[in-house]
Amino acid sequence: MQQIPLNQRVAAIPESATLAVSAKAKAMKRQGLDVVGFGVGEPDFDTPEHIKQAAVNALSAGNTKYTPASGTPELRNAIVEKLKNDNQLDYDPSQIVVSNGAKHSLFNAVLALVRQGDEVLIPSPYWVTYPEQVKLAGGVPVIVPTSADDGYRLRPDAIARHIHPGKTRLLILNSPSNPTGAVLTPQTLTEIGTLCLEAGVSVIADEIYEKLVYNDKQHLSILKQVPELQETSILINGVSKAYAMTGWRIGYLAAPKHVAKAIGRLQGQATSGPSSISQAASLAALTGDQSCVAEMREQFDARRKLIMQRVADCPGLSAPEPDGAFYLFVSFADLIGKTLAGTTINGSLDFCNVLLEQAHVAAVPGIAFGDDNGFRLSYATSTDNINKGLDRIEKLLSNG
Ligand code: PLP
Repeated sequence: MQQIPLNQRVAAIPESATLAVSAKAKAMKRQGLDVVGFGVGEPDFDTPEHIKQAAVNALSAGNTKYTPASGTPELRNAIVEKLKNDNQLDYDPSQIVVSNGAKHSLFNAVLALVRQGDEVLIPSPYWVTYPEQVKLAGGVPVIVPTSADDGYRLRPDAIARHIHPGKTRLLILNSPSNPTGAVLTPQTLTEIGTLCLEAGVSVIADEIYEKLVYNDKQHLSILKQVPELQETSILINGVSKAYAMTGWRIGYLAAPKHVAKAIGRLQGQATSGPSSISQAASLAALTGDQSCVAEMREQFDARRKLIMQRVADCPGLSAPEPDGAFYLFVSFADLIGKTLAGTTINGSLDFCNVLLEQAHVAAVPGIAFGDDNGFRLSYATSTDNINKGLDRIEKLLSNG
């Protein structure tokens, strides 16, 4: 029977480049093999108890009905307070839209700003979702490379080179970054923000990893560094990563008033407001005791140091120190064209396949993030797993 045709933009969404490796890892686990996984993009901690209790209380109170499409007034007020206290940014509650996860907030933001044919700057290595959302909106992703030598930190001159007057509409900036953990310096943020302002380029600032910053580094919003950008740009954040709440699906955006209003209408027709229970829990997360965030951050930091040291001991691998998030982006550029366990390594899919088949270690191939010379290790896993996985990688690479 003939298949019904799909919408062209939906038909064009490619199969995830990581799917083959992760499907194989799952199949190996099902066969009883002990596969060490470094693939996950979520904290391995449970949601803190007081947040869960707020959800239980909301249920008991019958807080089970539709909320306003842009989110409850209580949560939007709490977000305004959070942006003021943590980020020194002033917003009115009417500028906030709460959605089903930061990914949904991003989708709304991209759909609201990107017009047919608009160019959108995306620094690479990038989070896999950005280019696909841009294409779904009818935009054209323009990839702006960063280099391992710069710690994968975006350089202002690279942005300047990729701005095409009249065509470039938007920059999607993610600091701290998934997949590299790079955190931009205040000076770089100011320089990039100024370039965008002068060129009439809006910014979507994805700050979902803001609470996970290490060493003496500090998260700063580009919208704080260049305040005029607030009139043209959108800030994205959420509770998933900071409060170990990935399954609750709450993200939010802060935007110019007319943009937030339009996004509210869009969301009103697409999904309505997010879950009433999850919003109550997120209110507790943002307004409650913040020590849980510091405790999780400390554990991530210890794992970060361990995994960095273990990777540095592996022949052929190198990774600049990540200052944020919970990922290490590892380069195997020195092994390209060489043979590993009988396989010629031509790119990240080859490398990650050998890692999985020979060492029973699952990592995400860099090609998914636009960099075929690397792979991503998530350290949102126990120190025992980190040691076990890196023992295996080290042995594989030492044996050649
Ligand atoms: N932005 C980045 C850079 C992410 O890595 C993720 C999740 O992996 C998100 C946004 C989406 O977060 P959420 O789970 O709230 O949709």
